[in-house]
Amino acid sequence: MSTFRFDLLELPPAAEKVRTEVREFLREAVGDMAPHRRARSWGGFDRAFSAKVARHGWIGMTWPKHYGGHERTALERYVVLEEMLAAGAPVSAHWIADRQSGPLLLRFGTEAQRERFLPRIAKGELAFAIGMSEPDSGSDLASIRTRAERVDGGYRVNGTKVWTSNAHLSDYMIALFRTRVVPDKKHEGLSQFLVDTKSPGINIRPILDLSGAHHFNEVVFQDVFVPEDMRVGEDGAGWKQVTTELAFERSGPERYLSSIQLIIETIREVGRMPGERAAVTVGRLVAHLATLRQMSLSVAGMLEQGLNPNLEAAVVKDVGTVFEQEIPEVVHALLGAEPRLDSGSPFERTLGFLMEHAPSFSLRGGTREVLRGIIARGLGLR
Ligand SMILES: Cc1cc2nc3c(=O)[nH]c(=O)nc-3n(C[C@H](O)[C@H](O)[C@H](O)COP(=O)(O)OP(=O)(O)OC[C@H]3O[C@@H](n4cnc5c(N)ncnc54)[C@H](O)[C@@H]3O)c2cc1C
Repeated sequence: MSTFRFDLLELPPAAEKVRTEVREFLREAVGDMAPHRRARSWGGFDRAFSAKVARHGWIGMTWPKHYGGHERTALERYVVLEEMLAAGAPVSAHWIADRQSGPLLLRFGTEAQRERFLPRIAKGELAFAIGMSEPDSGSDLASIRTRAERVDGGYRVNGTKVWTSNAHLSDYMIALFRTRVVPDKKHEGLSQFLVDTKSPGINIRPILDLSGAHHFNEVVFQDVFVPEDMRVGEDGAGWKQVTTELAFERSGPERYLSSIQLIIETIREVGRMPGERAAVTVGRLVAHLATLRQMSLSVAGMLEQGLNPNLEAAVVKDVGTVFEQEIPEVVHALLGAEPRLDSGSPFERTLGFLMEHAPSFSLRGGTREVLRGIIARGLGLR
C-alpha cells in the first residue's frame, strides 16, 4: 500500500526574516481591526490593502521576475500567508489570483497571456474568481454543461456557474466550459478560459448566505463571446488543468486556519490563570494547531522541492477542516458564551461569525467526502 509522508521542516532564516517584516506591516495596516472582522479570514476584500501588499513584493512571490514576480521561495511565501491569516488580513482581492489563477497561467497559459496578466496580478491590480461549479455539478465537476461553441475568432458561451465567490467584485474569472460533447466521456472536451467578468451577456446575481451576506454569486452566460486568445491551454485539455488548479487551491495554510481568531480570542477570554478545564481545552487546540502547521509546512517544503504532494495536501485539508470546524463548538461548550452576530462583545461576535460559517469549511475547495476519495485513491485503496 502507498503511504503519505510528512517530513519535519525547519524554516530557513530568510523565511523568518520575512515574518518580521510582514508582522510589522500588518501591525500598521490592520492593527486596529476588530476580532470579528479578522474572523472573516481570507474572505475580506480590500483592493487598497492588496495594492499595499503588492508594493512589498508579497504577491506572485515565487514567480519569475520577468512576469513581475519576485523569485522568492515557497517557504518565504508560506510565512507571508500564515501571517496574513493569523492577522485576519483582508486578502481576498489578490488571494485567488496569487494562489491559483496566476500559477495556472504560468503553467498552461500562452506567453502573451503571461505577459498581459501576471505583472498586473503581482501589482495587486487584478482580482480573479473561480468558475467551476454549476447548478448540477459540484463534486462531479466533469459533468458541467456550460457550453463554449466555436465561432469566428473565438467561442460563444451559454450556461450558468454558481457559488462563484466574489464574481461581482472580480475583474476576471478562470472558467471551465465544455467545448465538445464526447458521448460517455465526460472528462474529455473540457477547456479553461480567461473570462472578463464585464463581457456583454454575463449576468452576475447575488446568492446570500445564511447570515444574509453577499459573497457567492450565480453567473449566467448568454451568448457571451470569448476570444480565441483567452483560452488557457489546449482545447480539450481542461480536465488535467483544472485538477492541477484544484491542487494549488487545496495546498495552503488557509485550510486549517479559518478559526484561528477564535483560538486567539478564547486565550484572551480565559486569561492568564485559566481553570483546569479551560487549560486542557486550550492546550489541546494549540497542540492540534502546532501539529497541523508542521504537516502543512511539510507540504510547502515538498512544493519547494518541485514534488507533487497532492495526497499530503488532501490529508491536511481534510484533517484541517475537521479541526477548524470543531473550534466554535469546543469553545461554546467550554465557556457557554452566546454566539452573536450584530451586537455583543468582540468574543461573542467572533464566536457567532465562526459558528455560522464553519459548516462551509468542509465544502469549499472540494467536500470532505471528495477529499477522502482522493486520499483513498492516493493510498491505492480504490
Ligand atoms: C464558501 C464556499 C465558496 C465556494 N466558492 C466557489 C467558487 O468560487 N467557485 C466555484 O466554482 N465553486 C465554489 N464553491 C462550490 C463548491 O466547490 C461546491 O459546493 C462543492 O464542490 C460541492 O458541490 P455541490 O455544492 O454541488 O454539492 P454536491 O456535489 O451535490 O454534494 C452534496 C453532498 O454529497 C456528497 N457527495 C457528492 N459526491 C460524492 C461521492 N462521489 N461520494 C461520496 N459523497 C459524495 C458531498 O460530499 C456532499 O456532502 C464554493 C462553496 C462554498 C461552500
